[in-house]
Amino acid sequence: MGIGRFPERIVVIGAGMAGLVCTLELMKQGYNVRLLEANSQPGGRIYTMRDQFADGLFCEIGAAFIGAHHFLTLSYAQQAGVQLINLPVPNRSLSYIDGRLIIDSPAEPALWPVSLTAEERILGYAGMLEKYLKPGLKAAGNPFLPGWPTQQAAQLDSMTMEEYLKGQGASSGAIKLLEIGYMQMLGDGIRKVSALQRLLDLKMASSERNTQTIVGGMDQLPKKLALTIGSNISYGCAVTHIEHSNKGVVIQFTNSGKVFTICCDRVIVAIPSTVLRTIHFSPPLSKEKNDVIQNQLSTSVTRTVIQSRTRFWNSLSSFTTVNTDLKIGWLLDATFTQTTSRRGLICSYSSGESARVISRAGNFNSAVSEIKQVLPELSYNYEGGTVFSWDHNPYSRGAYAWYKPKQMLRMLPTLSAEQGRIYFAGDNTSLFPGWVEGAISSALRAVNQIIANASI
Ligand SMILES: Cc1cc2nc3c(=O)[nH]c(=O)nc-3n(C[C@H](O)[C@H](O)[C@H](O)COP(=O)(O)OP(=O)(O)OC[C@H]3O[C@@H](n4cnc5c(N)ncnc54)[C@H](O)[C@@H]3O)c2cc1C
Repeated sequence: MGIGRFPERIVVIGAGMAGLVCTLELMKQGYNVRLLEANSQPGGRIYTMRDQFADGLFCEIGAAFIGAHHFLTLSYAQQAGVQLINLPVPNRSLSYIDGRLIIDSPAEPALWPVSLTAEERILGYAGMLEKYLKPGLKAAGNPFLPGWPTQQAAQLDSMTMEEYLKGQGASSGAIKLLEIGYMQMLGDGIRKVSALQRLLDLKMASSERNTQTIVGGMDQLPKKLALTIGSNISYGCAVTHIEHSNKGVVIQFTNSGKVFTICCDRVIVAIPSTVLRTIHFSPPLSKEKNDVIQNQLSTSVTRTVIQSRTRFWNSLSSFTTVNTDLKIGWLLDATFTQTTSRRGLICSYSSGESARVISRAGNFNSAVSEIKQVLPELSYNYEGGTVFSWDHNPYSRGAYAWYKPKQMLRMLPTLSAEQGRIYFAGDNTSLFPGWVEGAISSALRAVNQIIANASI
């Protein structure tokens, strides 16, 4: 193996957004790059489920939305030439709490079935969000500025999101209300997750301007990037062993049941920690590195998709999504951009313990019953459906990383640091797990680490 050889030979493991961007950027720099992907297609957790539904309908099972401030994602979407479409702004918001559908709109504020203080009743849902979250969003700070993490950010990392909300004076009724929906989609919910991570994630989720999605499905983005990479990607190659020294790296992988090895100067591992822990390193990674890889948690997410004969839900709101207090979690019209069929797909987004319960064998029917409970007309329109558990997906073993208090700021520097000739990318090594933006920023960081080391 040739130290000092140019172009250096780099292997990238994993053709999710992080691995694709690493490969593209290294190729642009003149490196000789090979991208190994275990699956038969690129994209990883950008997964558009196709071929399961009538009339060519499809459903996003993983990444679905791009915020107006996700500049890296938007830039690669532009490079790939995919077309974006704005999400409709709903004219009213729907929630299902304690067995009742609650409608909230500026013209007709909801009477929430929880015990709120007099002030909280006057503030309403949007007012409570503003009062309780704004100070935390400010205190979390801007991670891209020098001096971050500030003392305030570190303080937020030492408490749970529930502790933070209580500290802001939120009543238990307000906390119950605020945790339904988006807030529970990280880890095991607000009682467990670090307030810092929860607040940084809310910053990624909130867009002052329109949130967008990709016309024809999110998978257009990785597929088009993969086309640019061309024959440098090898599919069906599941990496099992990495042997490394100061002279180079030897990677072992299986393809169609056979074992192969490939030698290179450096490797970028762009797969989640949950899968990385199944790869054998020789010599082993440092104790510190190994500890964070073994202990980084991953959110359980289960999606249940139902095909409906009509889109009866269009009468409920201009864009139907329902926050529920049931195991199904959040419901969404998954076909709002697909207008050629009268049929539609309604998809649930269940996380944490509820996701684990639904993903157990035989629980599809209970998820369907819950969806019918919220949308009774589905009983006459139901045409079938399917369930997908991210925990059971062998190439991610979970949906996205999450942290308990005092884990995030401690683990992040170790997750993103290289180890000899091994570099680490993937949204789980970034400040923004659960976002394509995090995956891309981690890729650019890993590429810069390689360039910096190669030029020494
Ligand atoms: C339910 C859900 C909803 C989401 N919603 C959004 C959203 O609305 N907006 C947004 O921006 N982001 C969203 N995300 C997050 C986004 O999908 C991820 O942040 C991003 O896709 C991660 O990219 P990655 O390259 O880091 O990892 P991955 O996409 O996981 O890529 C890793 C790749 O490595 C491969 N691999 C694994 N093991 C091996 C091995 N041993 N050998 C070779 N290859 C291997 C995998 O097959 C995979 O292709 C969501 C994710 C989920 C799960």
